[in-house]
Amino acid sequence: MTIFASVEQVKLLLEKLSNDDKHTDLLNSISKELDNITVFAEQLTKETPPNSAHSKPEIKSGCYIFSDQKGFFCPSCYDNTGNKVPTKRLNSQLRVCPQCRASIK
Ligand SMILES: [Zn+2]
Repeated sequence: MTIFASVEQVKLLLEKLSNDDKHTDLLNSISKELDNITVFAEQLTKETPPNSAHSKPEIKSGCYIFSDQKGFFCPSCYDNTGNKVPTKRLNSQLRVCPQCRASIK
């Protein structure tokens, strides 16, 4: 059973719940499924390697650059969310991130 199967199961239970007046058993089942989801999520978190295990991108002009992707990317977005957000050039000295609004010199 996967986390996705659990989520689907919860959805099915909730559908039943909306057509049923005797909710107690269903609510118990739902909370059990949610417990399962929590356990799976914890396992997934443990299996995820820490950020430092990733090869750190190069820094150029205050932005991250990646060997497999062209452009200058926001370092704080990448560090915080793992998203590669291309920065926009404001003028010859300043870049800005459209996502977190950080100015990068
Ligand atoms: Zn950003």
